[in-house]
Amino acid sequence: MAYIKLDREKCKGCMLCISVCPKGQLKEDKGLNKKGIRPVRFLDKDCSGCAFCAIICPDCCIEVYK
Ligand code: SF4
Ligand code: SF4
Repeated sequence: MAYIKLDREKCKGCMLCISVCPKGQLKEDKGLNKKGIRPVRFLDKDCSGCAFCAIICPDCCIEVYK
């Protein structure tokens, strides 16, 4: 099954990745990262490996594995 690795410390919380995930696999985290920002969390249940999230992330926080 495909999955992603998301660097929560690098994430700036713009939420662009959440808006493009067709599988609803990305959610805002409840905790804060070291920047004091609520990063995105990967649910890891039904990722298709489409890479939309990685392509749209302006800070290259996401890597996709298939
Ligand atoms: S690779 Fe596609 S399905 Fe998987 S988390 Fe990213 S946008 Fe969602
Ligand atoms: S697009 Fe990148 S920086 Fe923006 S919330 Fe998603 S992982 Fe974080």
